[in-house]
Amino acid sequence: MNRFARGALAALGGAVAAETLRRLIFSGNGHRYEPWERAPYRDFPNRVLILGGGFAGYTAAKSLCRMTRGRDDVGVMVISRENFFTFWPMLAGCISSDIDTNNVAQPLRRALIRDGASFRRAEVEGLDLEKQCVTADGREFPFEHLVLALGAEPAYFGIPGVEEHAISIKGISAAEAIRNRVIERYEETTLARGDVPDSLLTFVVIGGGATGVEVAAELHALVHDILAPDYPNINPHRIKIVLVDSNPQILKELDPALRRAARIKLAALQIEVRNMVKAKEIRSDRVILSDGHEIPTENAIWTAGARASEKLDDLPLPADERKGLKTDVLMRVEGHENVWGIGDCAATVEEDGTPVPPNAQAAVQEGKVVARNILASIDGREMRPFDYKPVGQLVEIGDNFAVNEVMSVKFSGLLASLFWRATYLYKLESPQSRARIAADWILDLFFDPAVTQIRDRT
Ligand SMILES: Cc1cc2nc3c(=O)[nH]c(=O)nc-3n(C[C@H](O)[C@H](O)[C@H](O)COP(=O)(O)OP(=O)(O)OC[C@H]3O[C@@H](n4cnc5c(N)ncnc54)[C@H](O)[C@@H]3O)c2cc1C
Repeated sequence: MNRFARGALAALGGAVAAETLRRLIFSGNGHRYEPWERAPYRDFPNRVLILGGGFAGYTAAKSLCRMTRGRDDVGVMVISRENFFTFWPMLAGCISSDIDTNNVAQPLRRALIRDGASFRRAEVEGLDLEKQCVTADGREFPFEHLVLALGAEPAYFGIPGVEEHAISIKGISAAEAIRNRVIERYEETTLARGDVPDSLLTFVVIGGGATGVEVAAELHALVHDILAPDYPNINPHRIKIVLVDSNPQILKELDPALRRAARIKLAALQIEVRNMVKAKEIRSDRVILSDGHEIPTENAIWTAGARASEKLDDLPLPADERKGLKTDVLMRVEGHENVWGIGDCAATVEEDGTPVPPNAQAAVQEGKVVARNILASIDGREMRPFDYKPVGQLVEIGDNFAVNEVMSVKFSGLLASLFWRATYLYKLESPQSRARIAADWILDLFFDPAVTQIRDRT
């Protein structure tokens, strides 16, 4: 890390320290256990029930609460199966422990209650449109307006063996599973007598989009920067990382110059990129490719596809299996005046029919607009069609390199990496996570990071 980077990070550290001090000084003024929750949700005449507390659902709830502050006719409840939301853009960083998984889980309950919403941690099971109620964890939750923001999950396209043999990026535990798998392989290698097969030390990441590229780079950081000193008898160059992508180029949604920069960086990290091939089958000891080649591996990682939440299949609403709920430009589910679909579980389109991409910035923008439209509908005002304003794309490749496109400005390298870090720090919801991640990044400049493997012995 050069002096400029150290200076920038030190400045960041100063800001974090100042914020921490401010909080320490001013936090004593409030009551610690004041009752934050407003009147019970069931008592409001207009109950807005939001399913899913991710980027889209959380933003919709927060926006609606802020817009109805001081009103006693609109109640908001969020139901989500976890009491945190996953800050997906930073998840890959958890593989190398560059980012602590606890800081990627953004606490939902307190943030929502402070804003004036109710929160229930429950798994959505069913929907009765006539009774206007949702069933979750065996209980019924009534609504006047319903917002579906259930997100997406990995799609496997019927490829044999993916679900059984590959780790897919379903949530925070996937990052931990990948890190533990690498450590497990190192331990097995240390104990092995005789030759260790290549399949044990080969990692194949399937999918050359932003997630696949970031995962491959984090694997490299784990092997070469973090684990190498702990396993002096293992040659880190025996670890092979292969990135398989069916497109002619990785990161197909980025500008060609940035794609080239990313490709050069991956080559420098000795990550082998294979384009124009698909994984045809995954077995316990190999990945079979569409061009007939086989890669011996016991470590496949799947990042190649996503589909709208499978839960939609159980609900009586019009949905396209891959793209999600069919919605109009106001984000109302087709054929329903009071049911709305946002985020990755909805096939949102703009007025000219352009599909809105499934990403966090679109989900946040949709959350804000849906809140406005629901309130307009309650108040009998005109609603606003959704108009997506893409801000850019940021992809971090390892510790001090990123390829970014922001408002048509393209840049890569260390500055891009610092920009990536500053942007996502700013976007984190929890101030504690923000401070802890910044502090970790600063400490990493002075101490060699180390990882441990925590095994469940219960
Ligand atoms: C690894 C990864 C990295 C990414 N990186 C980026 C990035 O760098 N930039 C970017 O713009 N986008 C990124 N994305 C995409 C972005 O995270 C999503 O587009 C965004 O999270 C969509 O928001 P959402 O609210 O629709 O879904 P989510 O944020 O996934 O939220 C879905 C919510 O629904 C809840 N839920 C689901 N099913 C149920 C159920 N049955 N009952 C109750 N609750 C349920 C979940 O618990 C969760 O709270 C990334 C995605 C992944 C997977």
